[in-house]
Amino acid sequence: MGQVVLKGINKFYESVHAVKDVNLQIRDKEFVVFVGPSGCGKTTTLRMIAGLEAISSGDISIDGNVINTLAPMDRDIAMVFQNYALYPHMSVYDNMAFGLKMRKFERPEIEKRVREAADILGIGELLKRKPRQLSGGQRQRVALGRAIVRHPRVFLFDEPLSNLDAKLRVQMRVELKKLHLRLGTTAIYVTHDQVEAMTLGDRVVVMKDGVVQQVGEPLELYNQPANKFVAGFIGSPAMNFAAVTVTEAGGSLIAENSGLRIKLPDEIAQRLRGHIGREVILGVRPEDLTVAGSADLDHPCFDAVIEVVEQLGSEILLDMKVGESIMVASVEPTARVRVADKLRVAMRPSRLHVFDAQTEA
Ligand code: ADP
Ligand code: MG
Repeated sequence: MGQVVLKGINKFYESVHAVKDVNLQIRDKEFVVFVGPSGCGKTTTLRMIAGLEAISSGDISIDGNVINTLAPMDRDIAMVFQNYALYPHMSVYDNMAFGLKMRKFERPEIEKRVREAADILGIGELLKRKPRQLSGGQRQRVALGRAIVRHPRVFLFDEPLSNLDAKLRVQMRVELKKLHLRLGTTAIYVTHDQVEAMTLGDRVVVMKDGVVQQVGEPLELYNQPANKFVAGFIGSPAMNFAAVTVTEAGGSLIAENSGLRIKLPDEIAQRLRGHIGREVILGVRPEDLTVAGSADLDHPCFDAVIEVVEQLGSEILLDMKVGESIMVASVEPTARVRVADKLRVAMRPSRLHVFDAQTEA
């Protein structure tokens, strides 16, 4: 089993309140990813779970037992670090066996576990080498192997792929996913990379300034972001935002600024009835903007001028000037578009988001 519960967790480094009242229930076998910008408290949270950092207040329990005061060694948790932290003078075999030797496992059991983990990771041929004789990807596998041999209740990963080049990072991401499917061990993974979070996580925890902003399955975060921060952080290219004023005309609600004036779809209009005369933030993802054809006439539309065309092969990104601001649209790679073209752009009404301009929620 490996159910992890964080209850009212806080961390102060003297005056710095690094982690603020984090509550989370992680299910057995679940892969949970903490994501957020640098300095938001991800590593601190992970290190408190590992026992490498004292908790200022709150409780952490595994399978119902509070582990706050247990030494790291007694927590039945294995952590994989960003810098691998391999012992340079030890062979791959000894690096992987080290944690088991420390815990006084019998030699045959150690050998069995190291072989097994090496097979899973495809590093059986490398056991006699020293870390300096390995590539970055191989070192990362050894670091994973050292965690796997422990058969822990929980794996903790702190940005384990961030030292790899882009291509290898994608490969290792897929391998980690397979590894989790195979072993089924509860995993808590920390990254600043929202793509890693979306692809690896059964659930994703978005953090900012030590505060959990939203917890949800990847698509839930994408489609129903809890606030403007989550909306802008998850998804690439990022969601477009436009500050608009809500007005009323002929019974309909209108959102307008210097560059656009659109009739708000019913569902959003209902929510904004009490906001007439106020400023709100509209959000729309690049793929939810279409260069208007006749089918889009009912959709909210605005005029735009193309400033930059980015052909990516699978799509074209258009940087468009809309009044004083810039919006990005994603269109078919075969679209005939050129810089300085004037376009009529439509928004998919069901895909519009609205955020409070003051609280950004
Ligand atoms: P992340 O892993 O999300 O980048 P961290 O958990 O490392 O963030 O840091 C969270 C906050 O706590 C940051 O403001 C950081 O400067 C601060 N911090 C982290 N470790 C220490 C420490 N040992 N002493 C003082 N402040 C720290
Ligand atoms: Mg960190």
